[in-house]
Amino acid sequence: MPIELRTPKQIDEMRPAGQFVASVLTALTEAADVGVNLLDLDAMVHAMIKERGAESCYIDYAPSFGNGPFGKVLCTSVNDAVLHGLPFDYALKDGDLLSVDFAASVDGWVSDSALSLVVGTPRDEDLQLIAATERALAAAIEVARPGKRIGDISAAIGAVAREAGYSVNTQFGGHGVGRTMHGDPHVPNDGRAGRGLPLRPGLVIAIEPWLLETTDEIRMDPDGWTIRSADGSRGAHSEHTIAVTMDEPIVLTAR
Ligand code: MG
Ligand code: MG
Repeated sequence: MPIELRTPKQIDEMRPAGQFVASVLTALTEAADVGVNLLDLDAMVHAMIKERGAESCYIDYAPSFGNGPFGKVLCTSVNDAVLHGLPFDYALKDGDLLSVDFAASVDGWVSDSALSLVVGTPRDEDLQLIAATERALAAAIEVARPGKRIGDISAAIGAVAREAGYSVNTQFGGHGVGRTMHGDPHVPNDGRAGRGLPLRPGLVIAIEPWLLETTDEIRMDPDGWTIRSADGSRGAHSEHTIAVTMDEPIVLTAR
């Protein structure tokens, strides 16, 4: 698939989707609390999508690795789950680490973003893990400029993760974003600086570091979606959709 570059006008047209996705994540950070059911969070987001006239990227999503249409509008991954968590009938408990991932289309353009948080009383290890994914994302965005390459983004993520004491799994990473949720290029969460696709103005990508506390191995639940750490340790995930420009990258999903 060719890499599609967006004009400045198109990037402006992508802003409403980014702002909507950001507003949903902000609402989720406010709503997620001890005793709140994952299905209620999904229902809340469903209502926001309807009110905004947006389209869910998830509800009909049926990729090769998944188990048929996703059927929900939000990914909710709790504790040792880290990616693609299918919302189920579960009330959040004190100290749970919740990762939410959301993508939607507004005016024909997609944005994709994720964050992790702790409900109730946090463990220090969880806050450190979340902070590492956020620092990795910030470091990756910082290098997303013309003159750099995809490998520089990947290397920035890997460096932050290792410095914080975590190993990196590269089975799932970032991706091009445009009219659909997933396009080229793939943006690995580790790699060699100076390698890969040169970054050019108009490249719009989701960057999404995720880390597990004590392993880089994963396994999938019988639901065919939810991805967990192989050893039961907790995971965290941070994602923004960004546009490479002539100078500063634009964080379309900035909150
Ligand atoms: Mg996402
Ligand atoms: Mg993504």
